[in-house]
Amino acid sequence: MTDHYSVHQRDLRTAMTRGLKGCCPACGEARLFARFLKPVGHCPACGQSWAHQRADDLPAYLVVLILGHILVPIVVAVNLRYDMPIWVQMTLWPGLALVIALLMIQPAKGAVIGLQWARRMHGFSGGR
Ligand SMILES: [Zn+2]
Repeated sequence: MTDHYSVHQRDLRTAMTRGLKGCCPACGEARLFARFLKPVGHCPACGQSWAHQRADDLPAYLVVLILGHILVPIVVAVNLRYDMPIWVQMTLWPGLALVIALLMIQPAKGAVIGLQWARRMHGFSGGR
């Protein structure tokens, strides 16, 4: 068990970065997720309970926000350069959006849980 923080200090950037990588925001020593979007009940390394997380729809909102800003300029740029058939576009862009969204959602949820823990939101006020 590592103890990098005093009772009052939880570094926001460290916690969100660890969550982004799928690691425990509190210690960074163990996995945060038991399954795709389901956090472990307690960190096996430091014992922090993740039952208090209330990420709800924020990770999905962030994914849509970020993905839209990445994908829309790509769609516009490709359409300015190439004359792609509509059936290719109707297959390519939703498929690409789905793949990117699936790749982003777990890191986004991890970062949101890190934010909630670092800022002692919901039930994360206790402990170290
Ligand atoms: Zn931990």
